[in-house]
Amino acid sequence: MAKVFIIAEQRDGRLKKSTFELIGAASSAGHETHAVLLGEGVSGLATELGHYGAKTVHVAEHSALKYYTSEAYSQVIVPLVKSISPHIILGSHSPTGRDLMPRIAAQLETGLASDCTQLRFEGNQIQVRRPVYAGKATVEVEFLGNGPKLATIRPNALGIPKPNTGLSATVVQISPHLGTLRTRVLDVVKGSSGRPDVTEASIVVSGGRSLKSAENFKILEDLADVLGAAVGASRAAVDAGFRPHRDQVGQTGKVVSPSLYLACGISGAIQHLAGMRTSKVIVAINTDPEAPIFELADYGIVGDLFTLVPLLQEEFKKVKEN
Ligand SMILES: Cc1cc2nc3c(=O)[nH]c(=O)nc-3n(C[C@H](O)[C@H](O)[C@H](O)COP(=O)(O)OP(=O)(O)OC[C@H]3O[C@@H](n4cnc5c(N)ncnc54)[C@H](O)[C@@H]3O)c2cc1C
Repeated sequence: MAKVFIIAEQRDGRLKKSTFELIGAASSAGHETHAVLLGEGVSGLATELGHYGAKTVHVAEHSALKYYTSEAYSQVIVPLVKSISPHIILGSHSPTGRDLMPRIAAQLETGLASDCTQLRFEGNQIQVRRPVYAGKATVEVEFLGNGPKLATIRPNALGIPKPNTGLSATVVQISPHLGTLRTRVLDVVKGSSGRPDVTEASIVVSGGRSLKSAENFKILEDLADVLGAAVGASRAAVDAGFRPHRDQVGQTGKVVSPSLYLACGISGAIQHLAGMRTSKVIVAINTDPEAPIFELADYGIVGDLFTLVPLLQEEFKKVKEN
């Protein structure tokens, strides 16, 4: 049985679904699963981590941990990891995980495999698979040496297990001893969108340059509202100012792996595919039957998105109402 240490992520008092995926994967494989939870006023979330299989939840509360900074978080996590000596450390391949995990790996002088889409436990080891060359190929990675093995896992790659309210974790409160901090987040100004983030959503409705204006994205938003989906965009749509950069999917945007990805008027350039090719089901709407997106799509509709998207919205609405 391996000791697996998981970096839990929360925002505004809510745990991220990707954290449940990591805990579920480690605990269902029979491993001793530890989670660390950092923030201010977050202790109450430890119970939920227990429901997903965490055996021990280490909670660090401090005003300097209210907002994430790699400096403060690593000052808590690195000494904790040294005292627990886990075999494996897992984080989500979220903006936080992408920033934090390399710093932890460097301080522990050990290796990190990032953006993994598959994870296999083998005794005290893990083997992971990660995409390379903008998703055109994947490589299997194994770790050498004796230090803990670190990996960031792409959200939605492992699937969320069902919580078991009969399970509970031992909660250990730790007093963070923070040294001098060179950075401090004073405030976070949130974007106006109330929708889920594209990396977290299980359905993403994305639009491209063909939407022609920011206003026209309203038809995708209406469909997304019916489906409970996030709205994504190609870089061409973002560069044209139709959507904010946080919605961009692709090589220079976000990497998503939802259950359903609906690409509306997106050609399917390699740089876009790099951000969504691991989606479970891909549906493409495009007027051009030769568009490269159809080579990857599970289902393709050749047609005008301005006609098809409102029709789909109406049909999904009916299905939902019945
Ligand atoms: C270094 C680098 C990094 C990049 N990173 C990214 C990235 O992260 N993400 C990304 O997306 N791109 C990225 N790109 C850009 C990428 O190469 C493409 O230019 C971009 O993805 C094209 O966006 P698009 O599909 O919206 O536009 P287009 O290529 O213009 O395609 C529009 C599509 O809409 C279809 N269409 C037109 N009208 C309609 C209609 N009414 N109904 C249905 N279909 C219609 C057309 O047939 C066409 O296929 C990057 C490029 C470089 C060089």
